[in-house]
Amino acid sequence: MAHKAVELSPITVPYPVYAFEYVSAGGNSSQRMTVTLNAQTIDALVETVSQKIRFNKSAAGRRALMTARLRTFIKTRDRHTCRFCSVSLAAEPHLLLEAYHVVPVSRGGMTAEENLQTLCWQCNRTKSDKILSV
Ligand SMILES: [Zn+2]
Repeated sequence: MAHKAVELSPITVPYPVYAFEYVSAGGNSSQRMTVTLNAQTIDALVETVSQKIRFNKSAAGRRALMTARLRTFIKTRDRHTCRFCSVSLAAEPHLLLEAYHVVPVSRGGMTAEENLQTLCWQCNRTKSDKILSV
């Protein structure tokens, strides 16, 4: 008795396809690419996002988040005044102020507004890794 072959038609799942198109202002040049949101793309996306989260939580990542812009923001928020000894830039024009981590990065402190305060360089040097309560 011969087997009868059963042929199954391949099942295709329609994944959403995102098309990105760039056309220059003059319309002379254009670029187009598509991204198919399939399992492979989603896996790659999950991996990229989790790597970014891991980096931001790492000590190196938290130090990298300390940008010049954030430093300026913290000093302005604290009115250019040392939060420990209250010396200010208004009183001492050549005062060197620094944004510092209240809970140090080495102890798991995050680089976020609520964990950053302004200190004069002198207070910052004597602070080392102690956690100040001001
Ligand atoms: Zn100070």
